[in-house]
Amino acid sequence: METKKNEIKEMNVGTDFKHVSIGDVCAFSEKMFLKDATGATSCELSFGVLNSGEAVPFFHAHKQNEEQYIVLSGAGDFQVNDTVFPIANGSVIRVATAGNRSLRCTSDEPLRYICIQAKEGSLEQYTMGDGVITDQEVRW
Ligand code: ZN
Repeated sequence: METKKNEIKEMNVGTDFKHVSIGDVCAFSEKMFLKDATGATSCELSFGVLNSGEAVPFFHAHKQNEEQYIVLSGAGDFQVNDTVFPIANGSVIRVATAGNRSLRCTSDEPLRYICIQAKEGSLEQYTMGDGVITDQEVRW
């Protein structure tokens, strides 16, 4: 698959939203962080890619944020502390702050993933426990 240089493009900006595009989500080629691009205040979202045989060159833990990794394509190994397990397209891995984590790509195809960082223990309401149906009129 052809890989393309990443470019975060601002698409639409409004009072309560910001829409950016990273282009082809199946072909990005570099680590990208989106918090600053979107103005997010509750979590950091990044796209990561490891080519065949590559690994994140360090282990790390976090002070406040848990992470959730969502594998979009490829396959590899994920290590948390002393536990190693295989991951592949469709894997979703949550790692607590204290977990020492790293990952590597073991497939010929690049391992592409999304990582979401959010403050551990901060989620108090979600889905319709937090949502409110409003009377906004449809404009499309
Ligand atoms: Zn991290």
